[in-house]
Amino acid sequence: MPRRFKPLFLSATIPTGTVVTHNPHAQRLAMAADAPSVALGKFAMSLNITAITLRTLHRIHQQLADLTDQISAGPRQITGRTKHLEGAEAKLTIVQNDIKKAKLLADQKQLQLRSAESKLVDLESKLNACKTNREYQTLRDQIAADRMATSVLEGEILEALELIDGIRKTLPVAEAEVASAKKLLADVKSRVNTEAATLDSHVATVKLELDGVERDLPADSRESYQRMIKSKGADAMAAVDGQSCGGCFQQITGNMVAELKMSRVVACRSCGRLLYLPESSSGS
Ligand SMILES: [Zn+2]
Repeated sequence: MPRRFKPLFLSATIPTGTVVTHNPHAQRLAMAADAPSVALGKFAMSLNITAITLRTLHRIHQQLADLTDQISAGPRQITGRTKHLEGAEAKLTIVQNDIKKAKLLADQKQLQLRSAESKLVDLESKLNACKTNREYQTLRDQIAADRMATSVLEGEILEALELIDGIRKTLPVAEAEVASAKKLLADVKSRVNTEAATLDSHVATVKLELDGVERDLPADSRESYQRMIKSKGADAMAAVDGQSCGGCFQQITGNMVAELKMSRVVACRSCGRLLYLPESSSGS
């Protein structure tokens, strides 16, 4: 047997009779099950209201779930854009640090060059003071070796300066990326804020509608309904799809369909969703 809840009879009064004629299934079932005329009106009335109510509740909960998704998408987009900005800033920092390092290296080499040059001046001034040819030659060799070393150093300095220029050329791109990432973040923040206000007001409207429909649920059905909603949200309900649960697509028995047609609250045995008949089969 399907899990049963008490029928969701609503307090709204709907004239009996008019609905009955539109619903031959309920009519047949009711006639077979009970004293025809009285039960007929009751079943037919509650059938329509139950199916409509569950259908409406499902639609409202789906709307709420959709709105909640949209609301939570905003902060996710902001997080994504923030990460994008952080990435761009990290790249810029790398470029700036590379420039600093290359400058430091060039400065060190320039200091070395200055000290080597002053040493050379010093050595050259000593040439005239040499007393022997041998002493003179040794000093000349030393000066030649030092000149070679300074020219190597000069080459290295040139390379370091070229390196700085090369890195500096990537700086505008990195800076532009940061600026663009900042703008994108600001844009998404402002859009999300604007949308949040609209979404919040939609949620308020939909919740108001939900309150109205839920208020019509009889007290004994409300509790099990609330429990289901709390644990499953919009997935607490599913329309019957032919002979299957529209939520988990497991087949449901003919008995369950018959129960639904008699306005009984039936839950899917497989997923537990509260089932309701789709608009076409319930005649409303
Ligand atoms: Zn199911």
